[in-house]
Amino acid sequence: MFKKLLAVLIGLVLGYWLIDDFNPESVKGKRVLVTGASTGIGEQIAYHYAKLGANVVITARREKRLQEVVAKCREYGSGNQVFGYVPADMLQLNNTEHVIKEAVELLGGLDIIVLNHIILLDLGVWTGSQHNVSLVDKVTKVNYQSYVYLASYALPHLEKSKGSIIVVSSLAGKLGQPFVSIYSGSKFALDGFFGGLRQELLLRNCDISVTTCVLGLIGTDNAIGQLRDFGQTFLLAFVKAESPSDTALAIIKAGARRVRQMYYPLIPVYPMTLFRDWFPETCEYFNRIVYTLNS
Ligand code: NDP
Repeated sequence: MFKKLLAVLIGLVLGYWLIDDFNPESVKGKRVLVTGASTGIGEQIAYHYAKLGANVVITARREKRLQEVVAKCREYGSGNQVFGYVPADMLQLNNTEHVIKEAVELLGGLDIIVLNHIILLDLGVWTGSQHNVSLVDKVTKVNYQSYVYLASYALPHLEKSKGSIIVVSSLAGKLGQPFVSIYSGSKFALDGFFGGLRQELLLRNCDISVTTCVLGLIGTDNAIGQLRDFGQTFLLAFVKAESPSDTALAIIKAGARRVRQMYYPLIPVYPMTLFRDWFPETCEYFNRIVYTLNS
């Protein structure tokens, strides 16, 4: 009896995670803002939305790259889709209101915001140096505060459209990671704020979904370059980096299905987050095993 119950339970859980009930039509015509879309996962998210028939505005700092990404979106999309860009540095928090205003103007409203940008950091040991301390303000502003500001300015528009907030986060936001402690901290902060916001929205019957995406290693040029520069050859050989394009599509699907949290790749990311509180030392041990300290 117990075995049958367990089998049904496992079947239900696997079914929930693995059945792909994504309807591409649900994204067609949507008005989407993607941040950090000049490269990496954000760039791929923009291309997938373009292929799926959405209207897309992208933002990041490098205008030339944004123009190139928009040109490619136009190739992937059709003539009646809107594509645009807003160059902005998220270190300057007053740019966040401008980004939302511009996106709303270009798109005629807002259905989905994908918060994805991060400040590029070298991996390193946190010794409490002056350099370490100088990063705190920058990382907090770009990786955390700007997300809260952008979501806040977008809320009235998303409330009107019964829209979605998609927050791109990391396993590092669930389980502290060595050599990126300050990045880990900023991702934990996102989990706290958006977890609270999600529940407030439900409590006040406001039909805006909040999807947090918990990602493992994804093979973007920046992520792989940072690991290589810090001599993490064992990790790079041991852990499979997922494709940025597949990851981008998984993020879009999770947002369209309005799930509260997605894990990519499901294994090992989901079990790591599950076991984190039950077996913290074992989890941290397995986590540490793939890192090497060369410096
Ligand atoms: P990338 O480093 O490839 O891209 C980061 C993007 O952010 C770029 O478009 C960059 O553009 C933009 N950006 C950087 N600084 C600023 C700034 N000050 N203001 C505005 N935009 C800025 O990142 P990934 O694609 O690798 O990661 C995307 C998301 O996925 C992040 O949230 C990350 O935490 C998450 N993630 C990634 C993993 C991975 O292994 N790749 C693992 C787990 C999570 P520009 O320089 O033009 O401003």
